[in-house]
Amino acid sequence: MGMNEPVPGLAAGAVEGPWYHPTGNEVALFEQCHARGLAVMLKGPTGCGKTRFVEHMAWKLGRPLITVPCHDDLAASDLIGRFLIQHDGTVWQDGPLTRAVREGAICYLDEVVEARQDTVVVLHALTDHRRILPIDKTGEVLQAAPGFQLVISYNPGYQRMLKDLKPSTRQRFVAMDLDFPPPELEARIVQHESGVDQAAANGLVSLAERIRQLRDRGLAEVPSTRLLIAAGTLMASGIPLREACYAAIVSPLSDESSMVDALRDLVDATF
Ligand code: ADP
Repeated sequence: MGMNEPVPGLAAGAVEGPWYHPTGNEVALFEQCHARGLAVMLKGPTGCGKTRFVEHMAWKLGRPLITVPCHDDLAASDLIGRFLIQHDGTVWQDGPLTRAVREGAICYLDEVVEARQDTVVVLHALTDHRRILPIDKTGEVLQAAPGFQLVISYNPGYQRMLKDLKPSTRQRFVAMDLDFPPPELEARIVQHESGVDQAAANGLVSLAERIRQLRDRGLAEVPSTRLLIAAGTLMASGIPLREACYAAIVSPLSDESSMVDALRDLVDATF
């Protein structure tokens, strides 16, 4: 792919919306949840396509999308809003969740398990039949506008021991499992997103399959579809195949020299 050629995913996005290839019946399931005002939990490893799926669905359903990356400092006021002090007094400023509730947007809380428990609790009244958001600081109780939908993502393998969602929270969501796509489909996705040729895309996916088997042998994170796309993008721009894999797959995954050597051997056996 030359310098001035459009990036495939983005070029398609401008006209047709964010490109997403379904791996099961998740599109129909999500549409039903949306129509019935049900909150959705997307479960799956990092980089498997959760964000792209939500972007695609928001476009397909014609709703605005408001995304909030969650972190362990995220307070309820970061979602709901706060009073700002100005020279002539204070003004209320809506947070992203409140904006979504007013506008009837899809609100996507990415990696929600990272957020503080007291923050997650503010979602509860929005996920049942009431669909309300009480704003304590202003005394307002907002009714969610039609089209509002809450979507959270959750990576079940990650930091499982340290943090988890409370059962009382989990049971308020319809859960959808989005794992890495089957090999043939993952290769098509890598090819589409990176512009690499089919043979190299197949090679990247078979490399990933081998590396993913090392999960229980000291590899903390396995290569995601996103990493394969990064390697494919380097390849498509002329970087030698092995070098692209070392830079985009091996180094990001491990710092430990024996693991790095093992991963490099797998690369050399593939390309
Ligand atoms: P997550 O949100 O799960 O961490 P992303 O949605 O950011 O992962 O996925 C990483 C990249 O993988 C996306 O930008 C997209 O290019 C690609 N991707 C993964 N799965 C799919 C899919 N089913 N259809 C289209 N692109 C996909």
